Amino acid sequence: MKTLILLLTLIAGPLSAQPSDSLRIRSIYDEALARGQAYEWLRYLSKQIGPRLSGSAGAQKAVDWTKQLMEQQGFDRVFLQEVMVPHWVRGAKEEAYFRIGKQKTAVPIAALGGSVATAPKGVEAPVVEVKTFQELRELGAEKVKGKIVFFNRPMDPTRLNTFEAYGGAVEQRANGATEAARLGAVGAIVRSMTTAQDDNPHTGAMRYGTGVPLIPTAAISTNGADLLSKSLKENPNLTFFFRQDCESLPDARSYNVVGEIRGSEKPEEIIVVGGHLDSWDLGEGAHDDGAGCMQAVEVLRIMKTLGIRPKRTIRAVMFMNEENGLRGGIGYADYARKNNEKHLAAVESDNGGFTPRGFGIVGTPEQRAKAMRWKELLAPYGLHDIGPGGGGADIGPLAQSGTVLFGFKPDSQRYFDYHHTGIDRFEAVNPRELALGAASMAALVYLIDTYGL
Ligand SMILES: [Zn+2]
Repeated sequence: MKTLILLLTLIAGPLSAQPSDSLRIRSIYDEALARGQAYEWLRYLSKQIGPRLSGSAGAQKAVDWTKQLMEQQGFDRVFLQEVMVPHWVRGAKEEAYFRIGKQKTAVPIAALGGSVATAPKGVEAPVVEVKTFQELRELGAEKVKGKIVFFNRPMDPTRLNTFEAYGGAVEQRANGATEAARLGAVGAIVRSMTTAQDDNPHTGAMRYGTGVPLIPTAAISTNGADLLSKSLKENPNLTFFFRQDCESLPDARSYNVVGEIRGSEKPEEIIVVGGHLDSWDLGEGAHDDGAGCMQAVEVLRIMKTLGIRPKRTIRAVMFMNEENGLRGGIGYADYARKNNEKHLAAVESDNGGFTPRGFGIVGTPEQRAKAMRWKELLAPYGLHDIGPGGGGADIGPLAQSGTVLFGFKPDSQRYFDYHHTGIDRFEAVNPRELALGAASMAALVYLIDTYGL
C-alpha cells in the first residue's frame, strides 16, 4: 500500500488535486444548496438587527449576535478583537431642492459618511456642474467661490465589471468636497455611484483633505442628478438648497468577531474567510456585507457538518468598520503581527451575495499559478473567472506579511443597484445565489487547506 501511495504521489505530484476532491466539493455544494443556513442567518441580521454603522447600537448588537451564533455552531474558539472605530451619525433626514424663481423642486439626497452638517437652516447657493476635477480646476476660484459644486460624472455603463465603473467615478464622492472647497465652494453634491436610474441616493465614505475648509457634501439620486443637470442648462441661475445635520462623534469601542476551527496538522497556519459586519445606515446592509459575513460562518459550518477536519486553522472573521475607516481590517493584521500568527491565505466576500463567477488572487505568480490549477475542479460550479485581481479591503492589510488574498467575485451587474442605499435589504438577496457563494468559498478554503499555497 505504501508503495502504491508513493507511486501515485510520483505520478500525480503531491500538489495535484485528487479525484476525491471533486466528490468533496460536490458534497460541499450539496450541503449549502440543500441544507444551507446562511440565508436564514442573513434574515435575522438584516431584519432583527438591521443597519450596523460603526459605533451604532446596531453594530454592537451584530457583534453580540454573531459571536453567539458562532458559539452555537460549536466552533473550537470564538473571540472578539477590540478596535476603536469612527463614530459618524446622520442625524435628521436630509432635505434638498433646487429653486427656479419661486418654484422649488425637491430631490433625494443623503449625506456622505464623514461629512459635516450644513448650517442648521441649510445652505443655498448657485450651482456649477462638472464631470471631472480637471474641469473644476479650469473653472478656477472665480467661478466656484460661494457656489455648490455638482459632480455629475456617471459610472461608465460600458464596463462589463461594474466595480471598474465604480472605481472610475468614486473619487468624486471621496474627494469632491475637498476639491470644491479648495476653490471656495460652500457645498458639494455628488451623483450617486450606480448605473441604476432611480430615486435612491447612495451614501458612502468621503474624507477631507488637510488645509481646506470642511464643506458639507451629499449624494443625489441619479434621477435627481439628471433633473438638476437638465434644469441647470435651461436655468443656469437656479439655486440649490440642502440641509443635513450629521456629525462625527468621538471614536467608539467596537470589535471584530472571530470564530475558528483548529487545524489538526498545522494549527499554527491560519486561513481566514470573512466579510465586514458594519454597514451603512440607510438600509439593512444585506448585500453589503451581511451576505459575506453569513457566508463566512457558513463555510465553517459546512466543514464541521461534513466532518472535514482541516489540517490548518480556519477562521471566520467578521471585520468591523470597513465602510468608513477600515479599523477592523487594520486591527486584525496588527493582532496577527503581535501574536506572531502565520496567515497562509485570506478569502473575502464583499461584492454582494450574487451568483459566483470566480476569485481574484493577490499573491506571487507561483502562488497564483498553484491556485489556478484548481480551476478544473471549480469550473462545474460556474467559477471560471479565476486569476489576478483584488482581494478585499479588510484582508488587504494582511498582504504585507505575505498572506495570499482571494477576493470572491460574484456577478457584478446588480451590486451597485443596492450599494449603500435604503434598498440594500434582505429581499434583494436570492437564497440560491447566496448559498452558491458560500459553497464556492468553502470549496476554495478546502483546496487551500488540503494543498497549501
Ligand atoms: Zn462592503
